[in-house]
Amino acid sequence: MQALRRGDYFPRLKTGVVLTRLSDRYFLGLPSHGLLLESGLSLLLARSFDGSRSGRELAGYLHCSVDEVEEFVRLLVKEDLLELLEEPRNLAHSDLSSQIIAIRRDIESSLLSHRAEVSDGGRDELNKRAAASILISGENRLGRHLLVALQASGFTMTRLVRGSGLPPRIDGADICGIVTRTGDIGKLRREFVAELERNSQIERAQSAPKNSPDLIISTAPIEWDYVQRWMSEGSVHLHVNQIIGREIEVGPLVKPGATPCLRCVALSKRENGVKGDYTSARVEVPSAAAAFLSGLLTLAVGEYMATENTPLLASSHWYDLLEPMRPPEVRHWNFHPECGCR
Ligand SMILES: [Zn+2]
Repeated sequence: MQALRRGDYFPRLKTGVVLTRLSDRYFLGLPSHGLLLESGLSLLLARSFDGSRSGRELAGYLHCSVDEVEEFVRLLVKEDLLELLEEPRNLAHSDLSSQIIAIRRDIESSLLSHRAEVSDGGRDELNKRAAASILISGENRLGRHLLVALQASGFTMTRLVRGSGLPPRIDGADICGIVTRTGDIGKLRREFVAELERNSQIERAQSAPKNSPDLIISTAPIEWDYVQRWMSEGSVHLHVNQIIGREIEVGPLVKPGATPCLRCVALSKRENGVKGDYTSARVEVPSAAAAFLSGLLTLAVGEYMATENTPLLASSHWYDLLEPMRPPEVRHWNFHPECGCR
């Protein structure tokens, strides 16, 4: 249990945790797991865990000891059913913009609260997102979707940098109808991207982005000069290959020196007769693919940032966009003997 003073936290059932009556007893939990409540006091406590009263207040309110509340709290935390808030959950007294921020944060952290062994309601993970610096390399439909999805998920220090060869103003190929719409044609890219950031982020950034990003996501065809720089600077980078036929390749995520690099991948592909890098100037993905991939990648980035792990390390996942419910084809990569990046 986190280091909060005895009784001075505000217990709240995690989202989706419900109380169900089963003949003469009650079950508290999620469809996947939970527990049967053994006493009348545990039933009263479970019904009171809405984040508005502290453990100490609940003890007074229900005429029991703080120890009894603590014992039940500990049990529910162990079962991953309860979060402990540092402040009472009460939105009524704040101004409208603070209320909107609180509601949006709440929706994001409700999911994070279900990560294994998290009992702070996902707040720590959400707060850390605001400090993580992410660079999206390659402005296109996918890059802009990703910018918006990451900003809206609390990654406030996400920046999108433009690749070479794009006209300065938004044009027809940019219009996906979701993030970039008909009315945006003719806007200056630089100003439009700033507008997207402002409108999607939950809160304003508290500090300037760091010089070396925590993660680079490349959404454009590989430019080897960039890759060389990321490798020499030790920048972790995730590559999303351009759409080829009906499939799109996501990955690998490269930790320079620790996992196979993009050149290792290109060399392995070449040995198998696959042309590794397509360099056609501009390839956009269909609108639904941009929406799907940006959501998927944002959730995967969240996982990587929180756990420092992801199935994308040293592997590529191919998604078939015409059979999207089929699990992706996965291929694992090894260091290539000709590369020397290890
Ligand atoms: Zn390599």
